Amino acid sequence: MTFSNNANEPIGSGPLPRRASRGVVVQHGARKVVVGGDAPVVVQSMTNTDTADVIGTAIQVKELARAGSEIVRITVNTPEAAAAVPAIREQLDKMDIDVPLVGDFHYNGHLLLRDYPECAQALSKYRINPGNVGQGAKRDTQFAQMIETAIRYDKPVRIGVNWGSLDQALLARIMDENAARAQPWSAQSVMYEALITSAIENAQRAEEIGLGRDKIVLSCKVSGVQDLIAVYRELAKRCDYALHLGLTEAGMGSKGIVASTAALSVLLQEGIGDTIRISLTPEPGGDRTKEVVVGQEILQTMGLRKFTPMVIACPGCGRTTSTVFQELADNIQTFLREQMPEWKKTYPGVEAMNVAVMGCIVNGPGESKHANIGISLPGTGESPAAPVFVDGQKVATLRGERIVDEFKTIVLDYVQKNYSRDTVA
Ligand code: SF4
Repeated sequence: MTFSNNANEPIGSGPLPRRASRGVVVQHGARKVVVGGDAPVVVQSMTNTDTADVIGTAIQVKELARAGSEIVRITVNTPEAAAAVPAIREQLDKMDIDVPLVGDFHYNGHLLLRDYPECAQALSKYRINPGNVGQGAKRDTQFAQMIETAIRYDKPVRIGVNWGSLDQALLARIMDENAARAQPWSAQSVMYEALITSAIENAQRAEEIGLGRDKIVLSCKVSGVQDLIAVYRELAKRCDYALHLGLTEAGMGSKGIVASTAALSVLLQEGIGDTIRISLTPEPGGDRTKEVVVGQEILQTMGLRKFTPMVIACPGCGRTTSTVFQELADNIQTFLREQMPEWKKTYPGVEAMNVAVMGCIVNGPGESKHANIGISLPGTGESPAAPVFVDGQKVATLRGERIVDEFKTIVLDYVQKNYSRDTVA
């Protein structure tokens, strides 16, 4: 084997260009969120409250929206839930939360949309699972009823296929076609084909009924990382509908985060995906907004979007035996995230700021100088002083009990000086 260091071209980096897709506008009042086209990848989420509980659902939607969810989906599964939707919308409007709401329909969506026109109107988009719209002869009629409602109220639709609820008639048809092949495909390939065919055929049927191509988003969700990558690569090749990306039933804790990140990162790097949802199972009593934070962090760490100033922190090692720097890193990241709903309005561009919190002198000063603001805490045996760097220059040395508060003051001062509207203008 030979090694060549004769590089004639710079080493490339960054994702492939985004796949061309039709932009779909998801709108509530003056708030327009565009999925696809030239728009940045949108982060969305879903509530886990009982939709019939108006106040509980409105509060969770508000929390998700404040965390940065740009679209929020709610399940609409019963007459009580459908009746609650306009009241949820009203509560949100009163709280000045203009995030578009999506209704998630299975089995009885055609009836609920027909019987609760105010629900149909209050929602900004409908999610239809073609595997769950009815059986036999009723299937096409019920699907058509939902699409006709979307046309009547001028709403976009996500045709969301899920391998846990795949249209069994379509699967049987594709299996028959496979059996007739000289060399039949594997069961896995047949499943992929059925998912993709279900999404595209139903989208085409919706267009034949009269729904515009720019009103359709597609998804084909599976729970395996390699399956998701294979399905979306093919789906992206076969159509230009906007694509909703997500690993379904990703799981709990680190497993859910890692699996979602692994799958979505590969696809996003290839330019595939116009909106993402991270389907995390919350820990008991856990915070639903975590799925929004993870979605944002995937996009931000990949350099695709910026949402919140990022804290660069070292992992710590034997050189740092106290927990001061871990607490400071956590405290600062939480502080920055909590400020963002207000800072977004007051300090444009602040989401691009980097803050370094480092544990000792080995990499601390170097990493801190690369960040907009950095602090290098003293490791074991170092003098108890924490130099602070702003735009590469050492500006202060902090000591004692009030390091956290004093560092926050320096961060706030930097934000006010560098990102105020007057400064930016
Ligand atoms: S910066 Fe210091 S404390 Fe942090 S990981 Fe490196 S050597 Fe360890």
